[in-house]
Amino acid sequence: MTPYPHSFKRFTVAASLCAAAVLAPLPALSQQAVVQDGIKVRPLSTSRIFAGGVDFNEQSKQQYTQLVNEAREKNALVPDSDPQVKRLRAIAQRIIPFATRWNEAAGSWNWQINLLNSDQVNAFCMPGGQIAFYSGIITKLNLTDDEVAIVMGHEISHALREHSQAQAGKGNLAAVGAKLAGAGLSAWLGVDPSITGTATNMAAQGVMLKFSRDDEREADLIGMDLAARAGFDPRAGVILWQKMAALNKGAPPEFLSTHPSGKDRISQMNSHMAQVLPLYARAKGVSVNDLPAYRSNAVASR
Ligand SMILES: [Zn+2]
Repeated sequence: MTPYPHSFKRFTVAASLCAAAVLAPLPALSQQAVVQDGIKVRPLSTSRIFAGGVDFNEQSKQQYTQLVNEAREKNALVPDSDPQVKRLRAIAQRIIPFATRWNEAAGSWNWQINLLNSDQVNAFCMPGGQIAFYSGIITKLNLTDDEVAIVMGHEISHALREHSQAQAGKGNLAAVGAKLAGAGLSAWLGVDPSITGTATNMAAQGVMLKFSRDDEREADLIGMDLAARAGFDPRAGVILWQKMAALNKGAPPEFLSTHPSGKDRISQMNSHMAQVLPLYARAKGVSVNDLPAYRSNAVASR
């Protein structure tokens, strides 16, 4: 799901501002061969190495810091003490230990998780592990923890599989560069609803990096795998897309403009459910047959 924001201006950061949001570094996992259960781990795309020498992780960290600071200035950053922020970080802490399975470098990423106060139905994870959720995706879809984990797993998967870098390496470098040098973050990330009164539609501005359909399919599957290993029900992925489709009957959420064709995604998720359900059952310490049916909740009325 998401943008991968892409870009920005350098600026000086008050170190104390970010410190609180930085999660504790994770111990590097052993480099032993990956056991191929769940979704098969494949090598990273080779095209990412032609991404023009752009240090995505460093740039994304700077962009994210700028975004968070701008959001804070505009009262659009939900504070650390908020229960929803704590909830997102608790879910992330369960998922992140499994990230190195897909990309060993993730063990030393500067993981951060923040919640932006915006009606937009969106979320993203930047190439170096900086995650943001928009409050709209949680409230409008009334997401359960399992569904949050699916969204988060999907976004993290784009970062782990270096989809942004691969897109850049495949010839989209000019587009990425334009975004990296682009206008103010708040304008294209639409984090300024309190000031403008209207959420900016990022997709309409053409500022979002679009991933290929293959990237999206891969992120869906790896996201379910990550969530399942962390003890979240992968069947929530199907419900998530059904909720998204229901919401789409009104105005399409921003998320959908970069994540098309929900039906195909649901059928793909279902066709791989037998691979990821055992991971979930194992995390819960029960057999697959003993797993209760997944229970979601109603979508909030708009
Ligand atoms: Zn995506």
